[in-house]
Amino acid sequence: MPKKYRITLLEGDGIGPEICAELRKVIAASGVAIEFDLAFAGQQGIEKFNDTLPDKTLALIKKNRVAIKGPLATPIAKGFGSVNVLLRKKLQLYANVRPVRSFPGVSPYSDVDLVIMRENTEDLYAGIEHEIAPGVVESIKVITREASTRIAEYAFDYAKKHGRKKVTAIHKANIMKLSDGLFLECARQVSKKYPRIEYTEMIVDNACMQLVTKPSQFDVLLLENLYGDIVSDLCAGLVGGLGLVPGGNIGKKYAIFESVHGSAPDIAGKGVANPVAIILTLGMMLEYLGERKASEAVRAAVVNVLKAKKIRTPDLGGKNSTAEMGDAVAEEVRTWQSFKSVRRY
Ligand code: NAD
Repeated sequence: MPKKYRITLLEGDGIGPEICAELRKVIAASGVAIEFDLAFAGQQGIEKFNDTLPDKTLALIKKNRVAIKGPLATPIAKGFGSVNVLLRKKLQLYANVRPVRSFPGVSPYSDVDLVIMRENTEDLYAGIEHEIAPGVVESIKVITREASTRIAEYAFDYAKKHGRKKVTAIHKANIMKLSDGLFLECARQVSKKYPRIEYTEMIVDNACMQLVTKPSQFDVLLLENLYGDIVSDLCAGLVGGLGLVPGGNIGKKYAIFESVHGSAPDIAGKGVANPVAIILTLGMMLEYLGERKASEAVRAAVVNVLKAKKIRTPDLGGKNSTAEMGDAVAEEVRTWQSFKSVRRY
């Protein structure tokens, strides 16, 4: 009997509902039985339950243990705090895992194959800010041994399980000697337990330059929260943009899968957003659920559709719609599934 899954779905804001419609098509094509419990947060949470993160939403995520979400918008320099950050902290989703790979025929760089491991619960995202005098504001960066060690352990363990050869800790410990120094100390300590995996360190500004000039030297990148956020978007640019990069927030008990991109207000409602990132995010979720074949079929389907160069959303230089891209990937997944086993690509 095939397994049935109940997963919590937050469609989110902006392009969220549009890309989630394509997600549903790909699930149907994959043959994996997933039923969604719909949940709301952010602006939708306020409208429906007068709360940015309603108890009901948190309870649904905890009940199903696995959720997938579209982006949630956060007001800039005013208004409510980020619900994404709140969810990650409340559920202790400490590892933000973002695989970035080149797509033949699409990506400006053809040799990118790296994984970003971003610490997800502290750093400047601790949200401790105050005005100490008029015109003087303080933002506190929190780095702890506990959180730094567990993300380093996650990164090395992931590297070992996925046949990755190197972990590079990215830092600014020449300036932030205590905070980034502690992060590095923990990474060094953990690295000793993994002698088969090479461990290197790089200062974040140099890392950005090296990523742009020679991205193939990187394998697993271990970063604090803020550097991880910024470097993620930089890496997305190397492979063709935010429409192509998936992600997962993983903790010991719960996991929420979401793409790297935000709500893309500039294109929301136009039917042109690229659904590939959320579809690849679904692939990551299927792998997490143990549905390996379906997960590989999803990734292979995306690669094939992009390689064929027939269907392209505007971010990739084409004229096709979100729905046309979703249809093409779903159709390709169906073809793959009919082979009953997974071909390597
Ligand atoms: P963004 O990622 O929404 O958009 C940046 C650029 O990339 C825009 O030009 C957008 O059109 C493009 N883009 C993003 N996703 C795309 C896709 N799937 N297809 C085609 N083009 C795509 O970043 P932003 O504009 O800085 O942020 C907008 C809002 O999203 C903000 O409120 C921010 O807080 C929020 N945000 C949420 C998350 C999340 O929910 N995890 C992540 C990042 C940003």
